[in-house]
Amino acid sequence: MSVYCLGSINIDHVYRLPALPLAGETASARAYQPGLGGKGINQSIAALRAGARVVHIGAVGQGDGWIAAALAGHGIGMDSIRAVAEPTGHAIVAVDDRGENQIIIYSGANQAQDPALIEATLSGARPDDILLLQNETSHQVEAAALARARGMRVFYSAAPFALAPLLAVLPHVTHLLVNAGEARALVEATGTPLADQPVEAVIVTRGAEGAEWISAGREPLFVPSLRVTPVDTTGAGDCFAGSLAAALDRGEAVEAAMRYAAAAAALQVTRPGAAAAMPERAEVEALLT
Ligand code: ADP
Repeated sequence: MSVYCLGSINIDHVYRLPALPLAGETASARAYQPGLGGKGINQSIAALRAGARVVHIGAVGQGDGWIAAALAGHGIGMDSIRAVAEPTGHAIVAVDDRGENQIIIYSGANQAQDPALIEATLSGARPDDILLLQNETSHQVEAAALARARGMRVFYSAAPFALAPLLAVLPHVTHLLVNAGEARALVEATGTPLADQPVEAVIVTRGAEGAEWISAGREPLFVPSLRVTPVDTTGAGDCFAGSLAAALDRGEAVEAAMRYAAAAAALQVTRPGAAAAMPERAEVEALLT
């Protein structure tokens, strides 16, 4: 049993400065911190820490030693990560003393995935494996179709939300993951209630409130969030997605897997950072007992 993830890999370049620069202005930053980011790699790290065997499929720029070291540090294998001509996807994040921010994102290599690598990697997958996808890479449809042809479950996080890529991949998706805002956008854009979406299940996360598992012909399952004091909710949805996939991959029933994911995400929001804040399985189990 394995979790495959075709997903984005980014460097977040975070600069701290007294005030955000205005147009035409040059501002000196007081501090600089690079960090690993991208919804895809966040989900892979969440699944890995939840105990799954994870194969991440992705693309980065050439000779990017920082990213290689960061991925190795998190235990992500490089076998299905290709160096391409485009630069590594990155975000330039400026944060001022009031906590206001300005962000520029360039998806770069994430949009230059190698279809031959995707095919070769998924050719090793089994029908009980899971493929995780998010809307931050190219070749989502190709990967989803290949995975379905092998009988795998395909989990798609519709984030960042965009109707055209969602409608293209949806015929190959078994489990659709959305937060409350994305769920609203999906129903508005398609005119189809969540329970009637053409997938096995829609999983809706609702922040501090809880999460729902919705499948046609069944009562929705609602799992409340754990009560915690959040420090940084960046990556909470990715933690939920990766943890849920890992729990289902090891054969947990839907309700147990939803509770596992809710506990993992509750721990994740009590810590700063996204990937770095993903909890280990033992910590989550301790919270559940
Ligand atoms: P996203 O990060 O995609 O916007 P949500 O905000 O819905 O997604 O959060 C995903 C999951 O993280 C929630 O379903 C919940 O399990 C957990 N979570 C998020 N915020 C909190 C919070 N304040 N307290 C407890 N759990 C939280």
